[in-house]
Amino acid sequence: MKKISSIWRIYYLIFFASLILVSILVGLNYSNIKSRHHKELKHYSRVVSRTIHNNLLQEDMLLTMIGKQLLTSDRYKNKQNIQDYFDKFLKQKTNYLAIGLVDINGSFISVSSNINAPKGYSFLKNKKTEHSFRETLKSHKMIAGRTYMFKNVDEWIIPLRKSIFDEDGNFIAVMAVALNNSKSSEIIHDLGISNDKVILVVKDYDHEKKMYRQYVSKIKEIPMNKLYDIPMEETTIKALRKELKINHGLSLDELRESEETLCVDMKTILNINLTAGLTYNKDYNMWIIVKENHIDIMSDFFHNLYIYIALFIVGFTIVYILFRKLDMSDKQKQNELIYQAQHDILTKLPNRNYMYANIENWKKSHSNNYYVLYLDLDNFKNINDKFGHSVGDKILVKVAHRLSAYFKRNEMLIRQGGDEFIVLRESVGDGKIEKSIQDLISFISKVYHIDAKEFRIGVSVGVARYPIDAKESEELLSIADTAMYEAKKRKNSYCFFSETMRYENIIKTDIEQELRSAIEKDELWMVYQPQIKEDGSLYGVEALVRWENKKLGFIGPDKFISVAEETGIIRELGVFIIETALREITSVKEELKINFSLSINISAVQLMEADFLTTFLAHIEKANFDKESLTLEITESVSIGKLDDILKILYALQEHNIKISLDDFGTGYSSLSILRELPVDELKIDKSFIDKILHDKSEKALVQSIINIGKNFNMTTLAEGVESGRQVKELRELNCDIFQGYYYSKPLTKEHLLEYLKQQ
Ligand code: C2E
Ligand code: MG
Ligand code: MG
Repeated sequence: MKKISSIWRIYYLIFFASLILVSILVGLNYSNIKSRHHKELKHYSRVVSRTIHNNLLQEDMLLTMIGKQLLTSDRYKNKQNIQDYFDKFLKQKTNYLAIGLVDINGSFISVSSNINAPKGYSFLKNKKTEHSFRETLKSHKMIAGRTYMFKNVDEWIIPLRKSIFDEDGNFIAVMAVALNNSKSSEIIHDLGISNDKVILVVKDYDHEKKMYRQYVSKIKEIPMNKLYDIPMEETTIKALRKELKINHGLSLDELRESEETLCVDMKTILNINLTAGLTYNKDYNMWIIVKENHIDIMSDFFHNLYIYIALFIVGFTIVYILFRKLDMSDKQKQNELIYQAQHDILTKLPNRNYMYANIENWKKSHSNNYYVLYLDLDNFKNINDKFGHSVGDKILVKVAHRLSAYFKRNEMLIRQGGDEFIVLRESVGDGKIEKSIQDLISFISKVYHIDAKEFRIGVSVGVARYPIDAKESEELLSIADTAMYEAKKRKNSYCFFSETMRYENIIKTDIEQELRSAIEKDELWMVYQPQIKEDGSLYGVEALVRWENKKLGFIGPDKFISVAEETGIIRELGVFIIETALREITSVKEELKINFSLSINISAVQLMEADFLTTFLAHIEKANFDKESLTLEITESVSIGKLDDILKILYALQEHNIKISLDDFGTGYSSLSILRELPVDELKIDKSFIDKILHDKSEKALVQSIINIGKNFNMTTLAEGVESGRQVKELRELNCDIFQGYYYSKPLTKEHLLEYLKQQ
């Protein structure tokens, strides 16, 4: 799964936090809108109620006034006069459709001429009017009856009736008016209530426990008879009661009594959500309702919501763009960091990190068949030591330039570190690559001009082949390195990795493993090879170490001493060698009561140990060995490396009368000047010269000159690896002092040495 960067995490956090915030705002906005609508509906309900009340009150007073006037004036004793009065009156009051005077039996005393009341008509005989008429007779208030279709005028009317009493309170007659239902809206129209609200006037429960609508401001879809001839649905009233109980804690009776204005939310029988302001008018027993469809509230809400959403989207688009920019610059910084981590500061070449990060991709795009070249500059350390690191750095940069120029397209060039470079090269066939590497070596070893000086530097190249030599990148590098070490032996050359190297590598690791416990397991012992003087008498012995291991068999010291040196095991091994040789030779000398010299090979690593001299002297002391008959053999090549340090130790040894022998002389690089500086007592001429002495005149001359040099510097000369009498004869002629080799004896164990010496 792809990891989300921290920048995007912050972005999502802000996004979701804002989303929550906006949701809260939207929620608040919704409840604001709702409460505004509630307030408005309540307000309108109250205002409508008051308006209707005032109007009815006016009508009430008007009817009382007319009634009293008609009944008290003599002029209106005549029915015709009353009718004339009514007709005139109707012309002025356009919301009246008819007006009449009715007796206690519900029959017309007189009525406006537009009404053609049938003979014997009585309000008490009509189902729709009977009850409200009876109510009128009992009441001092004006009574508004049920709205019904008044056939005479073909209009829906609201009947208003008012009983007229004389001064003593005796009933005289009833004033009856037919109010034009549709004209009623004019009163309300002036209130400025918006069209989406419906005003509803409902007459409270009648004698049959039914509520009828008296006035509805607009409901186009429903026919008038359905509105006015059918009572309010029971379910609606039930829902209203429930809503009142739950949300207002009131019953319908309590609300009626309190005359409070409330706002209710409820569902109609048609499942329409309604909100309504509700007021009860006690004087005229009617409910005044101003209602609104929920959809209208929601549309008001959505109108604002769109703005919120639009703002949110615009805001977040801007924030998104900002974050993208931030993310891009973050990625750029990251890329820069990665570049820095994967490139070498000095040469600007990719480094190992780069190689490990890209090797798999490189392999994929390079036919899966490639070479690993491990390059190491020859003697680069000498340049650093002699000319300083700034010159060394300049050479490295120039070498890197040459390498980059040489490997241009398909290769991956890496600075491994120090003076080492790695190149991954596509396979082109071994013949071609050999030619190409030779060209590379001569290109790199061309002269460099730095600070007005000329430098030449060689390069050793080790080559490993994928997949023949190894499959894992790590192993390929390691074996290319091994091959490079092989090339280093010759310098300024190349070497392909071979199976022998792998075998030697394995052996080396095995040797290391086993050597660690060799002393403990008692697998090591010492042998001694006699050294014979010119006159045939014994000069001394050279101590040589032997090792036989259960798993690896017999392993020669030329194999395991170098491993011991590389791994530090030499410290422990050196102590074993010195201690054993001193102890055994002391015991031989004591047993035979003779004295002879003992030569011990000392590894350079051993010699360089800080406490070498003190521990060595302690061992001599312990073995009670005669220091003057002790020689330390050091190999020639070693003595050149760290001359100053070596010199100090050698002089200290000399002060203790311990002799120094330069082993394998002639194979290393020592010069005459060094020989003059070193306190050397003996030169051991290497076996390789002795081997050729009989057949090669120039080789013989070389041995002659070595012996002469020895004589000049007052050193003893010893020929090693003498295998025949003829060699001894030649060497005697050349004035060699001491001989050592199979011709006299192979290296012998202590016991065999005892026997050998006894026979002598
Ligand atoms: P080295 O010190 O030059 O020892 C001489 C080597 O030549 C010995 O091999 C010896 O067995 C061999 N040799 C002597 N005469 C003849 C001969 O006539 N013909 C042939 N073919 N070989 C002869 P070795 O014992 O295998 O030792 C090899 C090298 O290992 C030694 O060379 C020395 O450098 C190192 N070494 C051996 N023992 C020790 C030791 O105790 N300590 C250290 N530091 N190095 C040791
Ligand atoms: Mg030796
Ligand atoms: Mg030697």
